[in-house]
Amino acid sequence: MERLQKIMAQAGVASRRKCEELIVSGRVKVNGVIIQELGYKADAARDEIEVDGKKIARENHVYFLLNKPTGYITSVTDPQGRKTVLDLMEGIEERIYPVGRLDYDTSGLLLLTNDGEFANRITHPRHELDKVYEAIVKGRMEEEALIRLRQGIELEDGMTAPADAVRLRFNEKSKTTLIQLTIHEGRNRQVRRMCEAVGHPVRRLKRVRLAFLTLEGVPEGGYRPLTAEEVTRLY
Ligand code: URA
Repeated sequence: MERLQKIMAQAGVASRRKCEELIVSGRVKVNGVIIQELGYKADAARDEIEVDGKKIARENHVYFLLNKPTGYITSVTDPQGRKTVLDLMEGIEERIYPVGRLDYDTSGLLLLTNDGEFANRITHPRHELDKVYEAIVKGRMEEEALIRLRQGIELEDGMTAPADAVRLRFNEKSKTTLIQLTIHEGRNRQVRRMCEAVGHPVRRLKRVRLAFLTLEGVPEGGYRPLTAEEVTRLY
């Protein structure tokens, strides 16, 4: 749900300020009822909004799963002119944006949508969706470090919730360990900071799963729409 004036402005009716004037002066109806209250929230995809008796186009919600390569920032624009994940989403007319964030140098599963409510739900910690990462970390990670990761780590912004941490393989040649870490929060650079805190800086990081969604069938740099069933299951 979003404020009526925001939905109207996004649909191209007028500026947000002007839309507020239209609402206050009684020229806007939602599902046939005049709304004059500026705090009123509507559903851009489902409610019928009319201005001076003319319906505005309902928003078509879209949802995509992207396999993000490293070297792209998770943002809609970048003041420094770096490539953004939207550069990988050519041919999509809707004004989509990323759900949550992967670092510039992190690859893997990222959702994009134009559905604000969906984005809020997915990123809210209360939702506790599994976020599964594969990390290549420096050195040989032993059971002791894995136990600390599982118990939660004291970071500067507080204790992390217990995570699931599994060692997959140690590479003798590069002296690195491949681990799989499952977390439920989404703090800034959380996996990197957790691994650093147990003495194993991350060399490479990839998100391989979000809830039941995986990267299966999506090549790096590619994307696919979510099915209606997947969207319902995530809600
Ligand atoms: N944790 C990180 O440190 N980086 C990411 O991009 C995602 C999770």
